[in-house]
Amino acid sequence: MTAQLINGTVLSQQIRADVARRAAALTARGTQPGLAVILVGEDPASAVYVRNKVKACAEAGLHSVLEKYDASLPEADLLARLQALNNDPAIHGILVQMPLPKHINPQRVIETIATAKDVDGYSVQSAGELMAGLPGFRPCTPYGCMKLIESTGLDLRGKHAVVIGRSNTVGKPMALLLLQANATVTICHSATPDLGLFTRQADVVVAAVGRRNTLTAEMVKPGALIIDVGMNRVPAGEPGEGKLCGDVDFAGVSQVAGWITPVPGGVGPMTITMLLVNTVESAERVAR
Ligand code: NAP
Repeated sequence: MTAQLINGTVLSQQIRADVARRAAALTARGTQPGLAVILVGEDPASAVYVRNKVKACAEAGLHSVLEKYDASLPEADLLARLQALNNDPAIHGILVQMPLPKHINPQRVIETIATAKDVDGYSVQSAGELMAGLPGFRPCTPYGCMKLIESTGLDLRGKHAVVIGRSNTVGKPMALLLLQANATVTICHSATPDLGLFTRQADVVVAAVGRRNTLTAEMVKPGALIIDVGMNRVPAGEPGEGKLCGDVDFAGVSQVAGWITPVPGGVGPMTITMLLVNTVESAERVAR
């Protein structure tokens, strides 16, 4: 392996230590940062995610409430509960775990959360603030990717960054954050005919697709910085069957790249960390 590993677990620990210091200072002044996490239904992956978020809050000295509702919860009841949390001074961030049951409109839910408490950064207002370069909450996963890039010391000014994927939660905000950092940005997606044509020119590649081996060694410029957002499982019958893997062929690409994030231990831990950062930031704005 020639690439240097970008260790998301270590960076996460450093940022969480800073979050804990800020939370303690706020608590001493009478404002303990608080996060409300809402889970509707029994999706097992979602149950693990919310548990990890609540645990991370406790470890960093944040107050958190986890509210679990039956999958049959009427949409109106969820919206009413969100309104109550919007008005609760002990809560500085509200997160509704996705996906929601089919009868609930996710956009309506997101837009009901007060912008001042939208620590996931998913609302149209937060997206607009990012687009316009105004202060606001940045979506946690791309925000974490930016911290991972920053940790290498690479100056993005004038660099060519290629983002693979254009989802509202990862690809698009990622591209905007890279643009804000003065990179020249290309966005690729499922209708891009020759992905390698673009990635081979890239100083930075962020892969957010959800398909393993999307980025292979011959698609990477030597020395490039690679951020792997993907979370996939190795299919049955292949070596490492069932193991978590990203979108990048780690074994091959790490022979060519300059820096690379592993999966697990790269982007994953940073997502929750940036949720804590946004929640503390929200509480600081109130306590200011
Ligand atoms: P998504 O909404 O499904 O978006 C995937 C994107 O990839 C789409 O824009 C799609 O293009 C594009 N795409 C699909 N096939 C492609 C191909 N062959 N070539 C180029 N682009 C292709 O997924 P997401 O929510 O952005 O998440 C992406 C991945 O990141 C998933 O594996 C997810 O589990 C993971 N993830 C990880 C974290 C973390 O904390 N580690 C957080 C969030 C997401 P179209 O728009 O044209 O369909």
